[in-house]
Amino acid sequence: MCKLCDGRIILTSAVVHYSAAAVTDKGRKRSSNEDAFGFSVEHGVFVVCDGMGGAAAGEIASSLAVDEVLRLLTARAGDADLPTVAEQAISAANATIYSRSQQNHTLNGMGTTMVSLVTEERRAWVLNVGDSRCYRLRGGKLEQISLDHSLVDEQVRMGRMSTEEALRSPLRNVITRALGTQSRVSPDTFELEAKSGDLFLLCSDGLTREVPDTLIESILSADVPLNELCSRLVDAANKAGGQDNITCVLVRATVQAA
Ligand code: CA
Repeated sequence: MCKLCDGRIILTSAVVHYSAAAVTDKGRKRSSNEDAFGFSVEHGVFVVCDGMGGAAAGEIASSLAVDEVLRLLTARAGDADLPTVAEQAISAANATIYSRSQQNHTLNGMGTTMVSLVTEERRAWVLNVGDSRCYRLRGGKLEQISLDHSLVDEQVRMGRMSTEEALRSPLRNVITRALGTQSRVSPDTFELEAKSGDLFLLCSDGLTREVPDTLIESILSADVPLNELCSRLVDAANKAGGQDNITCVLVRATVQAA
């Protein structure tokens, strides 16, 4: 920052800070929680996974995925290309889950969705596999960043099904990409530039199937701490039925003068 002799200040550089909060809840109908999340504000890594599989397999898949991605991304070299390393970490997590399921027949077919946000100063990338989502609230408007890898969403995007039909479809649980169910998987990657005040939401479908985007937008617009916003989202999902596990990670970007 440069201060002129007449007292005016010229902003020559700015630093982006991120803060985060998260909550997971098993909802009102499920006996266990197969969602998992993890983050490191220091390393700019935020992850939500929603596991699937019989017995405890879903929980194992989602935990393995979060642990592997966090481990690899927090250990990355300082000059590493972040989106490339993130894609490699997701491939490694896929391989770990896949080989565990091949070695143990009780874990056959286990898998997990993943949505992650990785940040490096103003630059941010969202990577996703499956139907866990990333949204961004900017200027009071909520925008879905990731695109679901689900059969009905792909039909909607191709114009073959309406959003209303998708919500009622018996095929709405079918996801077209998951971590751990095949030997290889590739995420979709979305590149963004963070602005001061941006609020990112990573969440499992236990939130988005119960709470319409309009309500998520109005909840996130309240001027309260991030952990309170997380609690309000979970409360809204449970109030609407709480049919599934609910997980929310919120990440706020704040740009400050250096
Ligand atoms: Ca779910």
